[in-house]
Formats: sequence, structure tokens, C-alpha cells
Amino acid sequence: MRGVVLPGGSRVELREFPDPVAGPGQAVIRIKASSICGSDVRAIYREHLGKGPEGYIDGTIGGHEPCGQVETVGPGVTSVRPGDRVAVYHIAGCGLCRDCRGGFMISCSSPQRAAYGWQRDGGHADLMLAEERTLLPLPEPLTYEDGALVACGFGTAWQGILRADVSGRDRVLVTGLGPVGLATLMLSVASGAEVIGVDIRPERRAFAQELGAMATLDPGDALEGIAALTRGTGVEVAIDCSAAASARQLCLAAVGQWGRVVFVGEGGEVTFAPSPSLIHHQLTLHGSWVTGVGQMQDLLALLARKELHPDRIVTDRFSLDQTGEAYRLFDAGETVGKVVVIP
Ligand SMILES: [Zn+2]
Ligand SMILES: [Zn+2]
Repeated sequence: MRGVVLPGGSRVELREFPDPVAGPGQAVIRIKASSICGSDVRAIYREHLGKGPEGYIDGTIGGHEPCGQVETVGPGVTSVRPGDRVAVYHIAGCGLCRDCRGGFMISCSSPQRAAYGWQRDGGHADLMLAEERTLLPLPEPLTYEDGALVACGFGTAWQGILRADVSGRDRVLVTGLGPVGLATLMLSVASGAEVIGVDIRPERRAFAQELGAMATLDPGDALEGIAALTRGTGVEVAIDCSAAASARQLCLAAVGQWGRVVFVGEGGEVTFAPSPSLIHHQLTLHGSWVTGVGQMQDLLALLARKELHPDRIVTDRFSLDQTGEAYRLFDAGETVGKVVVIP
């Protein structure tokens, strides 16, 4: 089979690999869609900067947002059969530690923990070997691209929304309208909230309007704009998906008394004075990292029931042998929404 590795130095290599064979508790998935996440570019593609859970093992097939159809199953597998459409939770934890038992295999502390596309082969390939415990049925009418986007990006957005307990009572500020920000917008709107989106790029703001944002603002006049839109009360919830210091500060400044703020965007740094910006406003600040398997299953069910398709934010599609071009355009900021590789 073919698989794509990311050697660093903004290089992408298509190589031949032996077809994987499913051992006990494993399944081989025929990949139908494999989307690119910002963290693939930030921590692997440019240079191998990631450490610990973001460490990339040289020669590993990239792609941690896979989705496809079960090809074969190994001994003892009971929940999926060949031909089943499956979404993949993108980290295989030990399954036994406290975090794994709670479904948060992302936070597994065992040395066995391995993320697809980082420490074990991922979805930029024809086939992928997966652990049964990371597989979830992909319900109709969701597409393979929908499933791929849920594996990391939409799952991460969903968990941020759960952390802030977003509902129809809330006005939600989303800073950074890249793929995770657009996902946060779509899922906040689906939760009944009114959403204000902030991004530097006008084409992203326009896309956010199409996806149901109540208003979108340039960061330069965002704070005044939010004050005007909320008649001075501020929003109830702010979720940063940009990792920019100024956007994180905007989130803290834009919520009203007792507001809830979630930091989802990865990397960077921020400084703020806790007393005036956090304590005296009685704010709650959450850090939220990916999601749990159960929460991902709930999200798939919700998307299917509402016939809401994450693939609406896909703007660029490439074949497996064009993966290099896909990464180059995504890294160059020449894409607006999500970039998907289709083997
Ligand atoms: Zn990711
Ligand atoms: Zn574990």
C-alpha cells in the first residue's frame, strides 16, 4: 500500500509499505478521507518540534484525522465487521488508566499511548491498522469527510463547547476562524447560541457568516464591536481557537460578569493581570484538549440527527499523491477551510 511520511523541512514523501495485518483487538481500515490538522503543520511538517504526546516518530505515516471502511478484523473483535463505516478517535491509550477509563485516551499517561499519525501509522495511506477501542460507527447520513473532521477538529471544538456548557441562552465569541474556529461556530449555532466570529482574514469572516455567525469582526475593532452588539453587557462565552495572545486577551475582556472562557487553540503564550481581567469579573477559564471517546460518539449522533455536515467547511481536496501540495497550500495560508486527502 501507499503511505505518506513527513520527514520535516516542509517535505512530504509518498512511500510503499506492506499492507497491515489485524492482530487481536485490531481492525484494518480502508481510508476514504484523511484531513489535515493545524497541529500536523505546527509540530511535524515544518520541523519535528513536538514533544511527548506531540512527538513524531520518524517514518510514521502521517494523518490523525482518518475515516474509512473496515477491511478486515483480527481475533476477538466484536463491535465492527468488514464493510462497516467507521470514525476513529485519534489516540489509542492503554484503555486501563483513569483517563482512558473516562474515555479521554488523549490524556493517557501509559508508555503504550500512541496517536495515529504521530507515534503509530495514520490516515495518509490506503490502509490503516486501528485498535477496536478507537473505532466508532459512522452513522448515516454522515459522510467519510464528516467522520474525518470529527476525529480531531470537530471533536476538539465540541469539547470546548461542553466545557463552557454552551446553550441557547448564550452569545458566544469565537476568536480564530480556521477549521477549529469554524467547527466551534457551527456547533455553537447548532446548540442554539448566537455567535460572533473574529478573524484577521476577510475571506474567513465571510465564510463564518455563511455558516450562521450573527456577526463577524476584524480583531482591530472587535472589543468595541462586541460592546455595541451586546449593548455593553459582553458575551456569556468566549472560545479562543487562534492561540494568539491578543485573541486570548480579547476573550477575557469580551465576556461579561461570570463569563466562561475556553482556551482551545494550541501553542503561543499570553500574559494578563488576574485581578482586573479574571478575578474581579468572576470569570471561569478552561483549558480544553481534544475530546473523549464517549463525547465523540455523542457528537456523531447529534450531527446525524440534525443532518449537520462538518464537510461544509472542506474547501480543498487532494489525492494521496498530491499530499505535498495539500500541505504546502495549507501551510501557506492559501486555503480558507479544511484540507482533505482522499486516497
Ligand atoms: Zn489535530
Ligand atoms: Zn491509559
